[in-house]
Amino acid sequence: MQTRLADFIRDSDAGREADSILRACVHCGFCGATCPTYQLLGDELDSPRGRIYQIKEVLEGVPPTRTTQLHLDRCLTCLSCETTCPSGVRYGRLLEIGREAVDERVERPLRQRFARALLRATVSRRRLFAALVAVGRVLRPLLPPALGAKLLARRDGGPVPDARHERCVILLTSCTQDALLPAIDRAAARVLDRLGVSVIVDGTAGCCGALRAHLSDADGARAAARRNVDAWWPHLERGAQALVMTASGCGLQVRDYGRLLADEPRYAARAVRVSELTLDLSQWLAREWPRLPGPLTRLAPATIAFHAPCTLQHGQQLRGVVEPLLADLGARLAPVRDAHLCCGSAGSYSLLQPALAGALRARKLEALLEGAPEVILSANVGCLAHLEGATSTPVRHWIEWVDERLSLAMR
Ligand code: SF4
Ligand code: SF4
Repeated sequence: MQTRLADFIRDSDAGREADSILRACVHCGFCGATCPTYQLLGDELDSPRGRIYQIKEVLEGVPPTRTTQLHLDRCLTCLSCETTCPSGVRYGRLLEIGREAVDERVERPLRQRFARALLRATVSRRRLFAALVAVGRVLRPLLPPALGAKLLARRDGGPVPDARHERCVILLTSCTQDALLPAIDRAAARVLDRLGVSVIVDGTAGCCGALRAHLSDADGARAAARRNVDAWWPHLERGAQALVMTASGCGLQVRDYGRLLADEPRYAARAVRVSELTLDLSQWLAREWPRLPGPLTRLAPATIAFHAPCTLQHGQQLRGVVEPLLADLGARLAPVRDAHLCCGSAGSYSLLQPALAGALRARKLEALLEGAPEVILSANVGCLAHLEGATSTPVRHWIEWVDERLSLAMR
């Protein structure tokens, strides 16, 4: 694609990056076939190619409008288009640059500004968010349905094993996950303990910054990255072997710290190291699985449906890593139609675009339930909360299921 970027961006790092991404796009339109918003709305302006054109125009100096902003807002950042694109177009990064350029030029209506400011101020602040979740659970009947449905019932997390092993990994307790479903990290700690690995949770680490990045708050996302690098670095120096992520959305963000802090001499090298050592929990377990003290008792088969979050299958390009672990413990994996499509959760998307998010969730649940699973498993707290709000079939994090099955198998 030919480009003539405008003066305001041409000679900046972001401009050079956007230019090279735009030039890689050959307009083939293959990406439209796997774009959830294009499938739902049928409007080229809500397809990846259409959004690329709109961003190109803005970066070439055409003034954006509220309509441009709306089409970019409707993007889930699911990155399904990146998986599909034969030319390797880094759409997600281009969208970030495009959204920032549009938001600098187009003022949002007061209601939207308020909602976005509220999300930035609350969701990424662990203690405040936990307090709000506790109050919200009490007042659930009074809340808007889209919000009330996200306040998952608290599950008993069970005990956390003592740190007794020499081998250890750092666990990031996601700010939303810690408040909504602390049972996930406890299950992860128990499974890792069985494999001879202890977990370190550093209380000075906080939100990974993904939510701020999605809300076009690049400074806030970088500040979160700096704080977490500072928190984790001493543990890495003392021998922690990896940073293990139980929420695939957080994992994707932390793996980007190297790029985010590349221009900050004090942080650049450490941030690259942190990104390199960051693994999804499924990657770590797949490596460590042979260390399980066996043999495992044969368990009765259970039919499950696995929903791979976009941040896992498209963002981190991790496909088929969780499923073999589940199968080893007796899971009969129900086939899931259109498994590449987003469930509509997408960070804060389900709160900011409730109609589209609801329509995508209805499609996703229909596909997940076709095989009549006993339970739906996933890998990101946002997807769990979003899906569980609209089905009576239990929805759990896959590590909770693995923890339960391992305790049965190792009796
Ligand atoms: S990120 Fe997802 S919603 Fe956005 S353009 Fe790509 S496929 Fe469509
Ligand atoms: S982003 Fe990729 S798939 Fe989509 S139009 Fe451009 S080159 Fe084709």
